[in-house]
Amino acid sequence: MKTIVAFGAHPDDLEFGATGTIRKLILQGYQAVFVIVTNGENGCKDISIPRHERISQRKKEQMRVAQAMGLSEVVFLEHTDGFLEYTEALRHQLVSVIKEYKPEKVFTFDPANQDFDNINLFHRDHRITAEAVFDACFAAKNKFMYPGEPHRVSQIYFYGTNKPNYFEDITALIDQKLEWLAYHESQFADFARVEQFVREWLSQQTDAYEYSEAFRVMDIIQIT
Ligand SMILES: [Zn+2]
Repeated sequence: MKTIVAFGAHPDDLEFGATGTIRKLILQGYQAVFVIVTNGENGCKDISIPRHERISQRKKEQMRVAQAMGLSEVVFLEHTDGFLEYTEALRHQLVSVIKEYKPEKVFTFDPANQDFDNINLFHRDHRITAEAVFDACFAAKNKFMYPGEPHRVSQIYFYGTNKPNYFEDITALIDQKLEWLAYHESQFADFARVEQFVREWLSQQTDAYEYSEAFRVMDIIQIT
């Protein structure tokens, strides 16, 4: 079965950037795995909830999305939200995930985004996830760097990109996408505002579709 592995730095990143497209691929027969790199425990609206409860709340919200979308699995790497470091251990962890699930397509933030023009989009954890996943896709296809059978990912879909080269029509899925985003209840004091923002944002990606998700899609071609 063809597999997608989609990396988010936090629970809800993929719901903003890619769930419409991923759901379409699931309907075409792909199995999809989400890998959430940090716990997302420092982005909640309610400061009175203890840390361990915030972590479990965010996991529950993510699992609710997983069930609704028909994901085959969610992997939580449990790094601390806001403190992600690009270490050798992180790259190794990401390579291990790629070698285990052998995805044809990987989704992640775009490491080519270095414009620093949006304080949320250019979050430290997003930047580090982008770069580490990019490097892990290289390392996973290398025979020598890490143990285990090498695996070559065919395509990376970079979401949250400033350099899109591909737009996926998600008009038919916009209501579902927003419903899944709303499952992250710990995040949104006023979801109506979020919905308005997402609808405007996704309607302005391209004139070709009413609503679309934008990606920089990169093929990984084996030359040697
Ligand atoms: Zn995030």
